[in-house]
Amino acid sequence: MTTAFAPARVNLIGEHTDYSGGLVLPVAVDLGTTVHGERAEAIRLRSQSFGDEVELAADGSGDAAGWGRYVQAVAGLLAERGRPAVGFDGSLASTVPIGAGLSSSAALTVSVSLALCDAAGFSLAPLELAHLAREAELRAVGVPCGLMDPATSLLGRRGHALLLDCGTEEYSYVPLPPGIAVVVVDSGVRHTLEHSGYAARRAELERGLAALGGRRPADVTLVEAATADADDVALRRLRHVVTENERVRRFVDALRALDRPALGELLRGSHESLRVDFEVSTPELDLLVDLAYEHGAIGARMMGGGFGGSIVALADAGRAESVAAGVVEAYGRGTSAWVCDSVDGVGTNTRSL
Ligand code: ADP
Ligand code: MG
Repeated sequence: MTTAFAPARVNLIGEHTDYSGGLVLPVAVDLGTTVHGERAEAIRLRSQSFGDEVELAADGSGDAAGWGRYVQAVAGLLAERGRPAVGFDGSLASTVPIGAGLSSSAALTVSVSLALCDAAGFSLAPLELAHLAREAELRAVGVPCGLMDPATSLLGRRGHALLLDCGTEEYSYVPLPPGIAVVVVDSGVRHTLEHSGYAARRAELERGLAALGGRRPADVTLVEAATADADDVALRRLRHVVTENERVRRFVDALRALDRPALGELLRGSHESLRVDFEVSTPELDLLVDLAYEHGAIGARMMGGGFGGSIVALADAGRAESVAAGVVEAYGRGTSAWVCDSVDGVGTNTRSL
């Protein structure tokens, strides 16, 4: 029997920075997807969340629809990397809200990858697997997502945030102050990344990146970004990414110094930049962020790709439950909130730079 668990992630700061080689600061959390089953001739997986199943050949060939496309892409890519054609019969169960910005899709691709690897006695290094999971998402649903989500599921560390440079792929761990809790509140508005403006934003940013002559936004100054030769929309998208990379650096310092006001200002700054410059927030996310500050959070911002999903807030640990409950009640739409604990990623023990 094989059991593979992949955690979801909360990104503290560094949003829409990963796919231009920038900095992110996520935490692997105690919500995740578990795949349970055993070797078989073909791949047969049931999802308890969706109540249906996917059936494919061991190398991923066959027909797949819906969530089965992720399984198909993972199996196909693993076969291309040399995984022996061993099937797997099992089920998957998840505690990750779907489409809420906690990356249920990466929890799915990583847990399924690990189960298929385990069944076949095959393995890949964590970052290789993270790249494969990212590619699987692109192949499955055409979402050109970044490295952050699968990398966090694999490399996260209990009690720490993962400071990942998505350009160099170097990473280090930043201790989470024990007195501070991570709160997530779901707006209940669902993004469907396949149909949302995510790909459009990436394309707009590309125009700004092209004007940097090969330098990455994490390495240019705000003045250089503002005077790049690109159209106004592209320049605004670029300004978000350049300032957001800088906010990640300052946030790490503020966490180390436990500077609550600085943490609050940086989260507010990130949200405003995502709202005004990157234009991926929604009125519901803006409201939740305001409510979080009103109810005593240290800071809050929208999290994930945007166009719906959740906010992340930091709160003093003793107040986290009441901040979460207060925001949910004031929001008034019967939504959910979680006070999350950090957990180890599934590949943590394998390699660390
Ligand atoms: P997010 O990653 O923010 O939760 P996405 O739109 O990227 O949102 O991914 C959601 C998709 O991932 C779902 O529509 C489904 O196809 C797949 N998925 C996530 N969790 C599960 C699950 N437990 N079972 C089956 N499919 C899942
Ligand atoms: Mg996703």
